[in-house]
Order: sequence, then C-alpha cells, then structure tokens
Amino acid sequence: MHRQLTGSVVIATHNPGKLAEMRELLAPHGIAAQSAAELNLAEPEETGTTFAANARIKAMAASRATERAAFADDSGLVVDALGGEPGIHSARWAGPDKDFRFAMNRIQTLLIERGARAPEQRKAHFIAALCLAWPDGHTEEFEGRVDGVIVWPPRGEAGFGYDPLFLPDNYDRTFGEMPALEKHGLPPLGLGLSHRARAFVMLAAACLKP
Ligand code: IMP
Repeated sequence: MHRQLTGSVVIATHNPGKLAEMRELLAPHGIAAQSAAELNLAEPEETGTTFAANARIKAMAASRATERAAFADDSGLVVDALGGEPGIHSARWAGPDKDFRFAMNRIQTLLIERGARAPEQRKAHFIAALCLAWPDGHTEEFEGRVDGVIVWPPRGEAGFGYDPLFLPDNYDRTFGEMPALEKHGLPPLGLGLSHRARAFVMLAAACLKP
C-alpha cells in the first residue's frame, strides 16, 4: 500500500525552474508546495552512487529539517557507449559556469574517440528518480526513463541541459526542438514523454488524489 500525500509538501530544490514545474504538476491534485530555498534549508551533499539514492538524500534531509513531507528529484543523461557517463555527474560535466555546449562537445568527442558514429552505437537515456519522504523515515520512490540516441550537431534552442543532443526513439525532433509543454507536459496538453513526466505519472497514480 502506497502512502498518500495530502495538504502540502516541501520541494527539496533551490532551482526555480524545477519548483515551478513541480508546482504546476501538484496543483491539480490539491497539493501546495514550498521550496527548500524559500524555507532557507541547506542543500545536502549528494553522496549517492545512483539517481534514486541522491533523490532520497535530498528528500529525507528536507523532511527531517522541516518535520513535513518533502519531495526531491535527481536526473541525468546516461550514454551507453560511455559506460553510463555522465549519469549522476550530468550537472557537474557542465562545470561551474553550467556550460552545456562544453559538456555536449565532451560527449561527442568521447563518442568519436570510441568510434561510435552510427545511431545504434550512440544509444542513451534520460533517467528521473523521484522521492517523497516523511519525517518518520517512510519513503515512496519512482523512476522514469526515456530512451533515444545522441545526435550531432546539437539541434534546437528549446529546453535546457543536454536537450539538443537527445533524439527520443520514434520521434524525428530532439528534445531541444520540442516546446517544454510537449516534452514535459502530461496528456492531453503534452506527450508525457520526458523521464520526469513518466516518473510523475507513476507517483501521481500511487500517492496523489486524482
Ligand atoms: P539534477 O539537478 O542533479 O537532477 O541535475 C540534472 C542534470 O541532468 C541537469 O543539470 C541536466 O544537465 C541533466 N538533465 C536532466 N534532465 C534533463 C532534461 O530533461 N534535459 C536535458 N538535460 C537534463
């Protein structure tokens, strides 16, 4: 039996974009959200070796600090031919200046060094791990995934991070060429395509009122 989330939740992020997206997703279920930044919570160190572990660290830290239910996510791009990198290091590969041109170039350079030119040698997926945590230590965890290939050169100006490099399977436009609503939005407005949208659909089915 999954535990139900009611009332309000603390979103364990200091990223205003993530907060806005989560607020929009939670509002139709009658859940109000406050962010860790608004509550002046410290950001814990992400010492986990998996997306799920890092989401759990962030959600549990925020829940303990506020004695309320808290929510966190952790996500990234996993490239098969690079042994799963950048993976949980996806944000770090862009450096302190968050330079994703640099990070995308690094992926392409490493793929070419490994002779990975054909699409079937350039498989990748995005993962989003979501965690809801309560002050008694109970957690509910969900993981969404979207498969695709790494294209070069990057295509599209929409989105963020590695979006222009990622062509989802069965589509002819990269995430960088899709408006946010189409990529992350849930049907009927969007395609519910992204890793985050898929994980959220699972969370909503298990823990939120319709
Ligand atoms: P997080 O804030 O630790 O979850 O960092 C996730 C990092 O993974 C981001 O900084 C992006 O680099 C990358 N990432 C995660 N989701 C996406 C996406 O939907 N599009 C592009 N990049 C993403």
